[in-house]
Amino acid sequence: MEQTKVKYLFLNGGFVPYEDAKIHVLTPAVKYGATVYEGIRGYFVAEEDEIYLFRLDDHLQRLFQSMELAWMKPPFSLEDFRRNTIDIIKKNEFREDIHIRIMVFVLSDDGSMTSLGPIGAAIAALPMGRGSSKSETGLHCGISSWRRISDSSTPPRIKCSGNYQNSRLAGVEASNHGYDNVLILNENGKLSEGAGSNVFMVRRGIPITPAVTNNILEGITRDTLIRLFHEKHGLKTEERDIDRTELYVAEELFYCGTAMEVVPIISVDKHLISEGRVGRLTQTIKKTYVETVRGRDPEHNGWRSPVYSSKK
Ligand code: PMP
Repeated sequence: MEQTKVKYLFLNGGFVPYEDAKIHVLTPAVKYGATVYEGIRGYFVAEEDEIYLFRLDDHLQRLFQSMELAWMKPPFSLEDFRRNTIDIIKKNEFREDIHIRIMVFVLSDDGSMTSLGPIGAAIAALPMGRGSSKSETGLHCGISSWRRISDSSTPPRIKCSGNYQNSRLAGVEASNHGYDNVLILNENGKLSEGAGSNVFMVRRGIPITPAVTNNILEGITRDTLIRLFHEKHGLKTEERDIDRTELYVAEELFYCGTAMEVVPIISVDKHLISEGRVGRLTQTIKKTYVETVRGRDPEHNGWRSPVYSSKK
């Protein structure tokens, strides 16, 4: 199993062996899903023997935003989170692509639902497995009968574990119906996102994605792609409501997210998209994205934080 390579995790202020990275089952973190988190990717560049974390500070800022919204007082400063993230990678001596998960959770002894602390934090760096071949050739997707959680109940803007119960219901339903993945509408019947990714649609050659007020997580990949579409391809992304029927007649559709990067969708509820093949703009932006995260295009090197040569 890949995870045997992980020797240490960071937990509550120190490094602990993988086997000892545990919290009690009666904490609000476990009982009520009182955990906010981030998923970050580290890309290994063999020629430089270096790992670069993509948009680390933007992920940390979103973590702090989630803590603020979820009434969790940060247990460390942003600089400490950055330093500990880099240190746990160094301590495991990774020399491959990795995925980092930073978690902040409520750890009180009495386990009360409304307790505000103590707050714990964990950082895990894991080898990044390769996506399935379907991530290249495209996914058959279904629209969920479940609606996306809303800013007026459990806000999707907070990246918290509890929110993924909604994603799980939708994901398992889609899988039970034979689909590869799922698209979730918000309570107004407009597209929100996937179970763990944002979504772009192409119509009349224009990239379109739900606005941040459509009950989505404000994805960092989404933001990256909006900027890359503009800077590299002269295309301004429309951020607006997307109707269900627009999905059926879209020229192209794709998911995007830190872990997924860019993954084409080739059918929705059995309606073929771009004749069941990966669309041209999807291919183009996927290539641009990969070149950016792997540093083959130096223009956005500011988005890439080196691990082993880090001064911090
Ligand atoms: N929406 C949801 C629900 C997600 O879990 C993710 C993955 N973090 C995304 C969108 C994409 O966000 P990002 O590009 O920041 O990874």
